[in-house]
Amino acid sequence: MTIPAVLPSTPEGFRSGFVALVGRPNVGKSTLLNHLVGEKVAITSPVAQTTRHRLRAILTTPSAQLVLLDTPGIHKPHHLLGERLVQMARQSIGEVDVVLALMDGSVPMGRGDGFVLDLLRQIPQPVVLGLNKQDLVPAEERDALIASYREALPEAPLLPLSALSGDGCPSLVATLEPLLPPGPHLYPPDTVSDQPERVLLAELIREQVLHQTREEVPHSVAVQIERVEADGPRTAVLATVMVERSSQKGILIGKGGSMLREIGRGARLQMQTVLGGPVYLELFVKVVPHWRQKPGRLAELGYRLD
Ligand code: GDP
Ligand code: MG
Repeated sequence: MTIPAVLPSTPEGFRSGFVALVGRPNVGKSTLLNHLVGEKVAITSPVAQTTRHRLRAILTTPSAQLVLLDTPGIHKPHHLLGERLVQMARQSIGEVDVVLALMDGSVPMGRGDGFVLDLLRQIPQPVVLGLNKQDLVPAEERDALIASYREALPEAPLLPLSALSGDGCPSLVATLEPLLPPGPHLYPPDTVSDQPERVLLAELIREQVLHQTREEVPHSVAVQIERVEADGPRTAVLATVMVERSSQKGILIGKGGSMLREIGRGARLQMQTVLGGPVYLELFVKVVPHWRQKPGRLAELGYRLD
């Protein structure tokens, strides 16, 4: 991590540290990060396993700075990429002061949560349990649902919340802050993410692919940003979307290029918000057979364990 040179002096009693956000795919980890820092820093999707890169989102309050690590969802590995994702999740737990375990609190605790809880019982750091998606739970069912999670980790604070509406998020932050060690700002107070711009731009394209295509395509897509250039007032972005099979290339391009145009349009709009100005985006689709099974290829695309 690079520590920037200019940081404010530390107020009395200030705390700072690292919070790992763990949980099964789709429980709302990325949505929560975006809500907490008040800006889009992570991509979200109704399709599981969206988050591939480790992302640091930074939340600064008057009394603390929380560096939140978005980890890929913890799940049982199926192929090489899956194994890397799990390794990365385990590794981020090792580095932090507190673990925030997020669960889908709109459904009763299930067997699938066991894998995550087993992992959490083995770690020395304090754990806070967030029960997300409370907006989906009718008020009269809330207590019974929360009770079903109470025994999971009896010593961990249990916080019902909605990452979508923001309900319960202030209490969550208030619970996390005292669990951090006393310390200075680690980033300037207005920083929200450490993600290099290129990675975020690539993720925004991948997000559109996830939203606009279905089934087969999403998990076998990788995006590489080839060029980002200032072009007068515009930013020109050139990117390659890689898929594993030519049939997937066909789906991505669509009839007369219609799908790719929609993906490009959606990504461009998001990029304009992130970059704060007009964007010109050019997308290419390339078939790279079995990229997910090739360690070299994974490293090249940034799925690195470092
Ligand atoms: P992740 O895989 O854990 O990072 O999950 P995401 O943040 O990508 O969210 C997965 C899906 O759940 C998306 O469709 C989100 O919009 C949805 N979601 C996340 N948080 C909430 C919430 O508090 N309430 C509701 N209703 N949906 C949510
Ligand atoms: Mg995510």
